[in-house]
Amino acid sequence: MSSKDETLELVEKAIDNISNIHRAHNLLRRLSRNSESVRDFLAEELLTTESEVYSSNSESEDEAAYRPSKRRRIPYAHVRYQKCAQCLEEFDITDNTTGCCTWHEGELELDYEADTWIDWDEYAHGPRDTLQHREEYPDGFTWTCCDEPGDAEGCESGRHSTVHGEPPQKRKRYEYEELREHTGTPLSFHHSCNMTLVSANVLDRHT
Ligand SMILES: [Zn+2]
Ligand SMILES: [Zn+2]
Repeated sequence: MSSKDETLELVEKAIDNISNIHRAHNLLRRLSRNSESVRDFLAEELLTTESEVYSSNSESEDEAAYRPSKRRRIPYAHVRYQKCAQCLEEFDITDNTTGCCTWHEGELELDYEADTWIDWDEYAHGPRDTLQHREEYPDGFTWTCCDEPGDAEGCESGRHSTVHGEPPQKRKRYEYEELREHTGTPLSFHHSCNMTLVSANVLDRHT
């Protein structure tokens, strides 16, 4: 094996070993700053254009016109993968159809009647309602919106959204904030789903 291959193998091993997400972010930032080809590659992977968002998977004529010639500037306008404020999953904004997101619009609260807590003594075992217990003992909690246990599938469904607690909306089209220089915080991205957009973020609720 040539030393080039060996180096590549070692680098791949080192990449596999990165467990600190901040180190990975810094590395990618430095790479994209220092190399135009890396920047182009990352842009293609991680960003999307206005028309790709509107037309989902079908490429518009405008878009097609940009693609063939290599150095033509692609009009990237949005970060493609974003975190949904409702289900807390990452989603692809070019593939976000009605029904792909489910969430609870209520609060998660302790169910004192649940079998989980029959022999629970708070003096001996500590408080019932903790973040850890919400995850470990979902049957010991219920959603105020549907009275279902903590791990029940969301009782609301719609499209993913980055908007937290947005009131019901009637707009049909997407609405975006302008893309700004990205400094680590997720870009704000609005889309209207004609429904109540409320987060079911268990962790956020608790803190
Ligand atoms: Zn619910
Ligand atoms: Zn979602």
